[in-house]
Amino acid sequence: LHTYAVLFLDLDRFKVINDSLGHLPGDDILRGVAQILRRHLRPTDFAARFGGDEFVVVLEDVCSAEKVLLIAERILRDFESPFLLHDTEMFVTASIGIVLGTAKYQQAEDLVRDADIAMYRAKAAGGGTYRLFDSEMHHEAVKRLSIETELRQALERDSFVLHYQPIVDLRTQRLWGVEALVRMVHPTRGLIAPGEFIPVAEETGLIVALDHWVLRAACQQLAGWRERLAGDSDVKLSVNISVPTLRKPGFLRQLDSIMAQTQLAPGTLTLELTEGVLLESSPKIQELFEHLKARDIELSIDDFGTGFSSLRYLQRFPLDTLKIDRSFVSQMAAGNRDFQLVSTILALSAQLGFAAVAEGVETLEQLTWLRQLGCEFAQGYFFSRPLSVEQLEAQFFSTRQGMGMGHQVGSLRKAA
Ligand code: C2E
Ligand code: MG
Ligand code: MG
Repeated sequence: LHTYAVLFLDLDRFKVINDSLGHLPGDDILRGVAQILRRHLRPTDFAARFGGDEFVVVLEDVCSAEKVLLIAERILRDFESPFLLHDTEMFVTASIGIVLGTAKYQQAEDLVRDADIAMYRAKAAGGGTYRLFDSEMHHEAVKRLSIETELRQALERDSFVLHYQPIVDLRTQRLWGVEALVRMVHPTRGLIAPGEFIPVAEETGLIVALDHWVLRAACQQLAGWRERLAGDSDVKLSVNISVPTLRKPGFLRQLDSIMAQTQLAPGTLTLELTEGVLLESSPKIQELFEHLKARDIELSIDDFGTGFSSLRYLQRFPLDTLKIDRSFVSQMAAGNRDFQLVSTILALSAQLGFAAVAEGVETLEQLTWLRQLGCEFAQGYFFSRPLSVEQLEAQFFSTRQGMGMGHQVGSLRKAA
């Protein structure tokens, strides 16, 4: 039996509202939220602004979980009508995390923490909804915390390695470049894939240090290859950079120091950014992009088609490449929707003057279609998985001519 429940409410994308409209309309919206809460609470309940756009509600004497969920639903329903600002109306949604009071809770902080975890789940589901905290969320939160600890330790000890996945030029059937993909070296579990720790790194801000580490290590690796393998080493290097890293004021300085140290040839380095960056209307990003262009650094949009791209910014920003997300490529079948999407993205990038890289090519059939559609570059298990430095050197750089030269990609040769 539950005698009370805690609701943690957070507005979705409130920062965008504040940044675009200013703080006064933001304040009006917060007052509007308070009114909504007041409407649904009984005299025995309690609500408080927790900070920023966060509100905490304590419901007393609740007889059932259903009753609590009903209240959350009613609150969210009120968000379906617009907020009235001075001269406009604005739609805002909220995410609610709910925790039911049990004997297990001894401290208020624990209740708020779990309600917060559930609220993040609601956000992850797209916002505008609620989630009830359960034990599975608890396990995940514990796991997350241990990943965070491991990540911090790994950053202190440089316990990461880079693998490199070949990117193939479909016109010449040769190695065109490599994408650096980071792995965490765990003391007992071996190599840990980025899917497990990048989200945590992004949430905690550790991503900035990690991205810098990767950028430096990858550029050093390329410089090392150039020195050892001589020849016309024209292989390109792609490095993933997250949006928070890009936004940090010190980014350009770090990059310059790495470039000065490694002396990479102009046009060698590509930064892979996620579509989120295209939502940044800020002149700062525009300015940064200009600086990157001045350094002959190429810009690529990763996982294109899965995020929220603004077509306007796609055209306004000085981009070089679109990487067509694996989910489209892997589900291509003759004439189906994904096939048409890939075809459309290829047409779009041709129109806008970008190169296109198909990600996640696994079968000969996919490759054949991509070729027919005029795709120039591809990457995927069909050609090669991400390889350790040793594997990459053995498979691709072992010729006298040096890397990237005269080297056909094995499975491509079979395919041709
Ligand atoms: P991404 O940048 O889209 O990288 C491609 C991912 O797809 C890699 O996963 C790669 O192993 C996988 N992949 C490539 N070809 C195939 C295929 O044919 N089939 C399948 N099923 N998968 C394929 P990985 O290495 O696990 O990396 C996952 C993501 O983690 C990357 O996606 C990237 O977003 C992120 N990431 C990796 N390294 C870094 C980094 O240094 N910094 C940042 N910020 N993110 C990174
Ligand atoms: Mg990438
Ligand atoms: Mg990708």
